[in-house]
Amino acid sequence: LGECKKLEKVELHAHLNGSISIATIGKLLKIEGRSNIVIPTDFVLKQPTTMEEVFKMFPLIQKLTEKPENLRIAVEDVMREFEEDGVVYLELRTTPKCTEFMSKKEYVDVILEAIRRLEDRRKMKTRLILSIDRRQNIEEAEETAKIAIDDDSGLIVGIELSGNPILDGTKFIPTLQKARNSNLGISIHLAEVEENTQEIMDFLIFRPDRIGHGTFLHKNSEFVRIMRDLRIPLEICLTSNTLCKTTKTIAESHLPFWKDLGIPIAICTDDKGLMNDCNLSEEFEKASVNFGFSKRDLENICKTSFDISFFSRRDKKL
Ligand code: 5GP
Repeated sequence: LGECKKLEKVELHAHLNGSISIATIGKLLKIEGRSNIVIPTDFVLKQPTTMEEVFKMFPLIQKLTEKPENLRIAVEDVMREFEEDGVVYLELRTTPKCTEFMSKKEYVDVILEAIRRLEDRRKMKTRLILSIDRRQNIEEAEETAKIAIDDDSGLIVGIELSGNPILDGTKFIPTLQKARNSNLGISIHLAEVEENTQEIMDFLIFRPDRIGHGTFLHKNSEFVRIMRDLRIPLEICLTSNTLCKTTKTIAESHLPFWKDLGIPIAICTDDKGLMNDCNLSEEFEKASVNFGFSKRDLENICKTSFDISFFSRRDKKL
């Protein structure tokens, strides 16, 4: 694990609210006096065992970041924790939310401000991806895309689609296309569950810059054929997949299948706070133990991850 910690790692798939550590959740609960937030006090022990459980936790944690001052603490802690784990480039993603205390734009501005403030002091670089939640309507998605397109900080580098994987997301394709036309990177959570074959096909044809999870893609020969042609990079989250039971064990993960085919892959944490308070070094360690990766293999994964990142997408505006 020491060796994995020393690696200069790149994190491309980290949802802000899911990445908030147990320690920070405790800090925010204390600040809030837990008045109207009912997160179980034994939350630490209640790590999820299914995807449904994970999705039940999000609204509770999101309540803790409804105020700008709390959101600032959450972002700063998440960035510090990734840096302490040896991450040199972080692509953080979050769904802009209109709360009682902030508009969507203000929510994004608080995060950008925190990134900017720490940018000079820290070795780690951080960029932001705005998320569209599958539950949203097209107007909400358009509003999020507009914030990213109009951003002139240079720090927002992409748009991604996430949220309950059972819901069809193809209605967002025109919005995603608009974002792509503005040179934003596009990442789509795809094939996290086995259903929605038509959606998977439509999104493969759309050809996102990256795919989140892609857990069930290798089970369909037509998808494999398309992936061989298009070589769309995958963001793979080993612990998250096993806790959500979409892969039975890490050894049975889809990661080696795609790596052997030469598809670029990034190893990522997804929601480190919710996933046993995991970290990226441990994910690398698990890949090394389960797939026999050498130090050189792990270094190459770090390099590939940076190559497929959206880092330079908006550089012209910096
Ligand atoms: P936030 O966007 O509030 O910072 O982070 C939490 C949100 O990220 C969730 O509400 C959900 O939309 C999305 N998310 C986090 N983890 C996953 C995941 O494993 N799968 C999918 N599809 N969405 C996720």
